[in-house]
Amino acid sequence: MTVPSLVPFTRADHAARMARAVADAQAAGLAGVLVTPGPDLVWLTGYRPTAMTERLTLLVLAADREPTLLVPTLERPDAEAAVGAAATVLVDWPDGADPYAAASALLRPDGRYGVSDNAWALHVLALQQALPDSSYDALTRLLPMLRAVKDENELARLAAAGAAADATYEEIVGVRFAGRRETDVAGDLADLLRGFGHEQVDFTVVGSGPNGANPHHEAGDRTIRDGDCVVLDFGGLLAGYGSDTSRTVSVGEPGAEVREVHEVVRLAQQAGVEAVRPGVACQEVDRAARRVVVEAGYGERFLHRTGHGIGVTTHEPPYVVEGEELPLVPGMCFSVEPGVYLAGRFGVRIEDIVTVTADGGRRLNATSRALRVVG
Ligand code: ZN
Ligand code: ZN
Ligand code: ZN
Repeated sequence: MTVPSLVPFTRADHAARMARAVADAQAAGLAGVLVTPGPDLVWLTGYRPTAMTERLTLLVLAADREPTLLVPTLERPDAEAAVGAAATVLVDWPDGADPYAAASALLRPDGRYGVSDNAWALHVLALQQALPDSSYDALTRLLPMLRAVKDENELARLAAAGAAADATYEEIVGVRFAGRRETDVAGDLADLLRGFGHEQVDFTVVGSGPNGANPHHEAGDRTIRDGDCVVLDFGGLLAGYGSDTSRTVSVGEPGAEVREVHEVVRLAQQAGVEAVRPGVACQEVDRAARRVVVEAGYGERFLHRTGHGIGVTTHEPPYVVEGEELPLVPGMCFSVEPGVYLAGRFGVRIEDIVTVTADGGRRLNATSRALRVVG
């Protein structure tokens, strides 16, 4: 497969995202949004500082000023090249100066701000001390929709990442499983993801036999045996956007119980995908998938939420979980990944990324969800 040529994001794209963050913050009664290096900063500005240091870098998005990026003086040239001086005001602070005094000058003393989820506590606590009447909360709690709806360019990248993950699956089912360790197959998965265009591999789960019954088992020393059921769950970033897919395979012919559980999970995943359409609450997708598992008698063994959003990270809002009433909107992308986990024996999970369309949901993973037999 070839990675399709993707349109670069423009300064105008980033300016529009920053403007929307300001508008959303205002609508939520916030003084603004504070962004430190990480996925929010990349999404909003395209700037990915090479050095992730304790020196404060802070993007301030507020209605009372132009987007303002506070950077360490030594990183100013890189920041300027990445964000352009036109769309963003750059302010720098030299080593020896107090970066929190510099940041405070950009903030409202009594403002309530949404802060990037991954901001270091070091920085948030220091801002709180510098401005005792200000307050802060996690950005995804205050503005869960900010990155949730993807535009055409983002969808093209997510589709390309999904296609690369699919190509990886089609190759991995041809490799030897029996007699090799989980970590060997995980290494193959990582090589394939990179070979098909991923610049970053986030996870390569190979859960064989009893290890498959632990939903977050990654890969270990266990040697895979003939007769094992094996959960494969892998993904990462391609062109800055995420892939995440799971399939469960059988090493040699599966027994009756593995076939039965696999079919329950396949039907649950199908029901979840079919529940996707605009206006439906996230929790309805979880309920649709869970109902199938419960009715088959495995409800207690479906140990996790049905899915999570995906974009510039592989796990983000919206969460497909009971209690999440956020309505689905065209352009949202998330996983539908029900599973059944039989402790000490085996697990089954099937996962596709789905995007909400005008009248339903469209899978971004297209490999067969039937139980595949591998060697
Ligand atoms: Zn997970
Ligand atoms: Zn996954
Ligand atoms: Zn997932």
